[in-house]
Amino acid sequence: MKLVNQQVIKNNNLKTLYHFIQHEPGVSRAQLAKLSGLSKTTVSTLVDELIARNFIQDTGILDDCATVGRKPNGLQLFHGQYYAVVISWSKKVILAKLVDICGVIVKEISAPFSAGDSFITSSRTLFDKILDSELHAEQILGVCIVVPAMIDLDKKEIFTTTLQLGSSDENDFFSRLQSAFHDFPLAIFNDTACAAYAEKVYTRIPQRDFAYINFQHGIGAALFIRDQLLGKATASYTQFGHYSIDPNGKQCSCGNKGCLEIMISEDTIKERLIEAGCRSALCQNEKVTYADLGTAALYGDPSAQKVLSDIARDFSYALSNLVCLVHPKLIIIGGKGKDLGPIFLDDVLNNLKQTGFHRMLDSLRIRYSFLDSTAYFVGAMKYFFDIHYDFTQDPAHSFFIG
Ligand SMILES: [Zn+2]
Repeated sequence: MKLVNQQVIKNNNLKTLYHFIQHEPGVSRAQLAKLSGLSKTTVSTLVDELIARNFIQDTGILDDCATVGRKPNGLQLFHGQYYAVVISWSKKVILAKLVDICGVIVKEISAPFSAGDSFITSSRTLFDKILDSELHAEQILGVCIVVPAMIDLDKKEIFTTTLQLGSSDENDFFSRLQSAFHDFPLAIFNDTACAAYAEKVYTRIPQRDFAYINFQHGIGAALFIRDQLLGKATASYTQFGHYSIDPNGKQCSCGNKGCLEIMISEDTIKERLIEAGCRSALCQNEKVTYADLGTAALYGDPSAQKVLSDIARDFSYALSNLVCLVHPKLIIIGGKGKDLGPIFLDDVLNNLKQTGFHRMLDSLRIRYSFLDSTAYFVGAMKYFFDIHYDFTQDPAHSFFIG
């Protein structure tokens, strides 16, 4: 029992030091001791271990350091040594990316997916392809499967309205997935949770309570409460996209009516424009994207402005209820949502002022994501490394859900 505790403490300390070196490149051992509160001897031993295992490197004497006497050495992350393979599932394509634990995507491959294929089998095939002969198995810290789905821990299955799982994927889902990747540590995460984690880490969000709303094929939300991701990376606590904003509205694939996802998703834009009497060239397009709508509204197209304003009203209605439930201090609109542009954000804020609970809105900020819509790959790697990877244990055969 004592040994286990020591391992837990050592793993936490190594993670802490790695975290500080990531955020303060060039930091010295002495500064690390101050930042972490660990003794200089402990820091020195752990830093030596991280260097020996190629997680970090000593970049030599710091010339510009004001310290009198012996100059300290600067520490930095070691690039190009350890990776996670992140595999993302969507309706028509499976994407696999090799992500350096320093946060860089170094390689990516994809395969088309059609109904009847097996996500599990196709993912393993892609995984084997992305591991070229120059990579050793020990360099892969883990495999992360990222799904636009609710991951149900109790029922051991995933629920999604945007993917069509083949029958071979549905039965005994978790065990089949685990056995396909039995030789590597494996994790399965929700895509919105990964995007939110990337935003938290890489844009250094100071707020401990914040919501991240992801506009992709569906609309998802991830909530951080007191710095913790609610329900881990499973999306099993929140199905924001299936919040009904109109009980008499359109039928959603989940079975309910008027879900946010069906009312304001990108697929509905053209239909809403036509209903609004659109006569502009915009409606000649086969499909109208959020970016098309946001741009047209910005340049003064009246029907685009009308639809954008209607969507903002619908979205704000759901958002004001979310604010009443969990009181986030920051709301980030990510994924394709930021293509809706500045007018949408203004409209959302104005609507919230009319319908929201003022006491909570006073301390609320809303902004678009600073990252691109593929940030969830890096987010998945980082979440896996921060939350599940263990410096002190051989992690083969482990399977992490959320
Ligand atoms: Zn629904």
